[in-house]
Amino acid sequence: MLTESTLNPAKAVIDEICPAGEPWMKVIRQGQVFRILDLEGNQAVDTLFYSAADREERYSAVDTIQRNRNLYLTVGTTLYSTEGNAMLTIVADTCGRHDTLGGACAQESNTVRYALEKRFMHACRDNFMQAITHHHEHGLEKRDITHNINFFMNVPVTPTGGLTFEDGISAPGKYVEMRAEMDVIVLISNCPQLNNPCNAYNPTPVRLLVWDGATA
Ligand SMILES: [Zn+2]
Repeated sequence: MLTESTLNPAKAVIDEICPAGEPWMKVIRQGQVFRILDLEGNQAVDTLFYSAADREERYSAVDTIQRNRNLYLTVGTTLYSTEGNAMLTIVADTCGRHDTLGGACAQESNTVRYALEKRFMHACRDNFMQAITHHHEHGLEKRDITHNINFFMNVPVTPTGGLTFEDGISAPGKYVEMRAEMDVIVLISNCPQLNNPCNAYNPTPVRLLVWDGATA
């Protein structure tokens, strides 16, 4: 469902660019609104959420799909945790299709999906590891890298239950916006994937904005 936001970027308390292929990690407080903006279109933004109060509680694709009764994420979708609690609610979306089935790319998946010699290319799992190493105050480890969301990625399920990685339906300036229902740690890999035609083999930067509840 396409719904535009009324929030003014000039009033955002965080307004940062995450360059193509780089990680980003921040705490978003309950009531704050978080926007991911696809600056050049068809960029996959691989994202994990953790409860800031208890990192053992984190985003669950299974609970989110089951409780929303929908495979895809858009306005009205509540993102649920492994404890069944609401973590964030999507409140605006001008793209309309976000995937939570495809997973994040890794060196291993690069060899399976593309070619053996792609193994040493940069992947989302490397970005996640880099971010949690530089933000060790959150206490996250390799084993904490679990289900993720691929914002702006179009991964339709076929009638026989298969997954296909299709061309993206996002475009320059499209965004998704969500309200935090608890204090959450956001861990992003702005996907560096150079082998997937869905981004025209061209990773691009994204813009990340946060508004306080009072100004939202
Ligand atoms: Zn990736």
